[in-house]
Amino acid sequence: MLRVAFLGLGAIGAPMARHLANDRFDLAVWNRTSEKALAFAGSGRARVAATPAEAADGAEIVVTCLPTSREVVEVLAGDQGLLAGMARGALLVDCTSGDPPTSRRTAARLAEHDVSFVDAPVSGGVSGAEKGTLTVMCGGDPAAIARARPVLEAFGSRIVHCGGVGAGHAVKAVNNALLAVHLWSAGEGLATLTKAGVDPAVALQVINASSGRSNSSMNLFPERVLSRAFPRTFRLALLDKDVAIAADMARAERVPSPLLQLTAELFRAAHHAQGEEADHVEAVREIERAAGVEIAPRARAGDEGRGA
Ligand code: NDP
Repeated sequence: MLRVAFLGLGAIGAPMARHLANDRFDLAVWNRTSEKALAFAGSGRARVAATPAEAADGAEIVVTCLPTSREVVEVLAGDQGLLAGMARGALLVDCTSGDPPTSRRTAARLAEHDVSFVDAPVSGGVSGAEKGTLTVMCGGDPAAIARARPVLEAFGSRIVHCGGVGAGHAVKAVNNALLAVHLWSAGEGLATLTKAGVDPAVALQVINASSGRSNSSMNLFPERVLSRAFPRTFRLALLDKDVAIAADMARAERVPSPLLQLTAELFRAAHHAQGEEADHVEAVREIERAAGVEIAPRARAGDEGRGA
């Protein structure tokens, strides 16, 4: 049995860790709010550790799934931190959607303790985590990624080696920046059509069979905006962080990037307006507020449209 520790049982971390709570792994879990770890352990095979160091003690592979690289650095530090518990030769697999420069610094710091590091952020959302069909984008040494595979394959169906340390985090940030661009542009387009008197449900039928379609138009708008359901699965605060990472990377690489920089500003403002708990799709509420329109099918929107 592979000895694994998992730190961070949040919206996506918990369903990922659930695939490790079985007889193939000897799993220890740690969560800042211990009640969540106790509830998790109660529903499967896992030990609850009192500290990151205790979770890491004896683990061959430690997985972190925290909001940002800042929290990863935090849980490494101190007497009770991960670094105090990790044995020489162990491997840290960071599934946080983190930032490449911090990950490279973390990898260098761990190497001094003979601990390897792989960045392995995921895409596919909470439903992909529950089904075990996440895409995992890895950065690091091929041998370290090969060691991580049994863990990654427990919750991922596509494991892609993107390059050296930080390459997984770089691809994840750009992917999510594209999500943000698509979400915002679809929001502006559909708010315009709704105000012009076109039913957005009808508009989406056309767009989703045409060249303007995206995951946002095909899935997020029908399931979450037009339905007014706005389920909370991926916090807007986290998407704001991802777009900011992509915008910083573009600046660091000296790529002229007006669209990425503007998208970062829009999501920073939407995050501050909507708060820490809002879902990423709730950014669309900012467009609706500014336009004075609700992107809802005609029957729901009432008299808001002018009539086609
Ligand atoms: P959540 O906000 O739901 O959970 C965050 C987790 O981090 C919780 O376990 C929380 O503990 C813990 N945490 C927060 N701050 C600290 C801290 N200072 N020290 C220690 N632990 C801390 O986030 P998600 O699970 O949604 O996301 C985790 C990562 O995965 C993020 O990087 C995100 O961008 C990425 N991701 C998320 C997806 C999604 O659909 N949700 C999809 C793809 C990637 P506590 O319970 O105490 O609050």
